[in-house]
Amino acid sequence: MTTIGFLGLGIMGKAMASNLVKAGFNVTVWNRNPAKCDELVLQGAHLGTSPKDVTKHCDITFAMVSDPDAALALCQGPDGVLEGIGSGRGYVDMSTVDNTTSKAISNLITQAGGRFLEAPVSGTKKPAEDGTLIILAAGDASLYEDTKPAFDVMGKMSPYLGDVGQGANMKLVVNMMMGGMLSIFSEGMSLGQKAGLNGNQILEIIDAGAIANPMFKGKGAMLLKEDYSTSFPLKHMQKDIRLAVALGDQLEQPLPTAAAANETFKQAIKAGFADEDIVAVYKVIK
Ligand code: NAP
Repeated sequence: MTTIGFLGLGIMGKAMASNLVKAGFNVTVWNRNPAKCDELVLQGAHLGTSPKDVTKHCDITFAMVSDPDAALALCQGPDGVLEGIGSGRGYVDMSTVDNTTSKAISNLITQAGGRFLEAPVSGTKKPAEDGTLIILAAGDASLYEDTKPAFDVMGKMSPYLGDVGQGANMKLVVNMMMGGMLSIFSEGMSLGQKAGLNGNQILEIIDAGAIANPMFKGKGAMLLKEDYSTSFPLKHMQKDIRLAVALGDQLEQPLPTAAAANETFKQAIKAGFADEDIVAVYKVIK
């Protein structure tokens, strides 16, 4: 049976690794802060001592960490992934990073003899818990085939998008649009209520029309309750918009709306809301 490693047990990684354990996979976990492994070990996962240890003992290792710096840090150093990955072993980075970082990691892994797939995900804490993520895979096609049974446990679809970089690009397009939508949605909710409209009624009317979507519905309910409990940390959304704007720079694609949303999310970080849910952006707008 394929042995699975999982590095990074934050909001997303913990739920995804847990689903793999529950589905009967032989899973070894590691997290920088080891306390986050306890729950997974109770569920039946093995405890790895380092990224090197996990990749050395597992056929396929998944990673789910914060950002480009964290994704690279996992690979490098004496206890890093590159020290453990051997010939033919697979490394699947599911963190949201830019295509340049993903290609750099791909080169490091393949030079060390391993196979690499990038597989960032669309969907937040609840879809991660429910195993209904959208997994955006790109890279080594044979590793994609080998990883498909695990993807089928973690997600509801896992399209293969081609060369390394295209999964990262797809993910940034999705989140750039999401951040921009949340920003204008917050402005509309704030404007409407200041004009004397009832917040619930605004949501009902939006939900009945052409701009209805699950995010407005879910985040709208949170916003009215002033519930900012974290499913998707605001700091990660700002990172994604920032990386999308940088991709726009590279490709000479003007992104004025995304650039404005980036500034709003930066203000929210400055105001102290980095670790709250993305909906906390409403607090700096209202
Ligand atoms: P999170 O709860 O903040 O967890 C971040 C994880 O990264 C933790 O396990 C953390 O370890 C680890 N980490 C950070 N820096 C590290 C480093 N230098 N070396 C090793 N490990 C490091 O984040 P999350 O919400 O699970 O998100 C993880 C990734 O998924 C991000 O790229 C995010 O953009 C993406 N994503 C998130 C969502 C969402 O809704 N939450 C949805 C789609 C995609 P410690 O526990 O030791 O700090």
